[in-house]
Amino acid sequence: MRKKIVAGNWKMNLLKDEAQALTAEILGMLHDEELRHVNVILFPPFIFINTLINHVAGEKRISIGAQNCSDKNYGAYTGEVAAAMLKSVGCKYVLVGHSERRLYYNETNEILLEKTNQVLSNQMTAIFCFGETLKDRESGKYFELLKSQLSETVFNLSSDDFSKIILAYEPVWAIGTGVTASPEQAQEIHLFVRSLIKEHFNESIANNTTILYGGSCNDQNAKALFSLNDVDGGLIGGASLKSRSFINIIKELPS
Ligand code: PEP
Repeated sequence: MRKKIVAGNWKMNLLKDEAQALTAEILGMLHDEELRHVNVILFPPFIFINTLINHVAGEKRISIGAQNCSDKNYGAYTGEVAAAMLKSVGCKYVLVGHSERRLYYNETNEILLEKTNQVLSNQMTAIFCFGETLKDRESGKYFELLKSQLSETVFNLSSDDFSKIILAYEPVWAIGTGVTASPEQAQEIHLFVRSLIKEHFNESIANNTTILYGGSCNDQNAKALFSLNDVDGGLIGGASLKSRSFINIIKELPS
C-alpha cells in the first residue's frame, strides 16, 4: 500500500522561534482542515529536530525527519550526525541523496548507499532523492542517468530493505528554479522508475513503492502533479516555508 505524503524540506532556513511557529501553524491547520489522509513530514535543520519532535508528540499525521545523516556509524567524524543519534531523539525519516548534497558536498552513489544502510539499520525510513540535471535532460540521456543513480545505490538493497524506503524524483533543473516538470514529464519518469523497480525486484514491490515528486511544486501546480497515477505526493522546498502555501499544497493530495 503506497503512502500519500507531503514533506517539507526547510533546508538551511529559519531560526528557532520561526521553526516552532511554523510547526505550530501547520499543526493547527492540519486539525482545522481535517486533512486526515495525508502523512506530513517536516525536515528542519538538525538543531531543531529534538524540539520539534517534542512539539508534535502524540500527533499521528505529522513526523519530523532529518535532511541528512552520516555514512559512518560513530566516532571521530567532527561535525557529523549519526543515524543512531537521530533515532535516539525519535526521528523517523531521513532524506538521502538530495541534489544539493550531491552537488555541494560531493556525495557519491557509494556514500549514498552507505547512508541509506545507516538509516535502515536504525529502523528509520530513507527518502532517497534522485534526478537529472538540465544538461542530462538536454542531452536526452536522462533515462540512463536515472537508471544508474538507482542501480548504483538503492537497487543494491535486499528486496526487504528496498520495500522500506521511499523515493523522491527531483529533477535538478526544477529545484528552486520556479520551473516545474510538466505533469507529462513527471508521470513519464515515475512510470519509468516503477518499471525499473519491477524489472529489478518484482511487480508487487513496484506497485507498492511510494514515489514523491519534488521541484518547484507549489499550490498552483500541486493538483496536476498529485493527481498523476504514479505520483504519491511531494517533497516541497521553498513553498514549505510558509504555512498557508504548504497547507494548500497538502490539500491537493487526493484521498
Ligand atoms: C527540494 O529542495 O527538495 C525542493 C523540491 O525544492 P523547491 O520546492 O524549492 O524546488
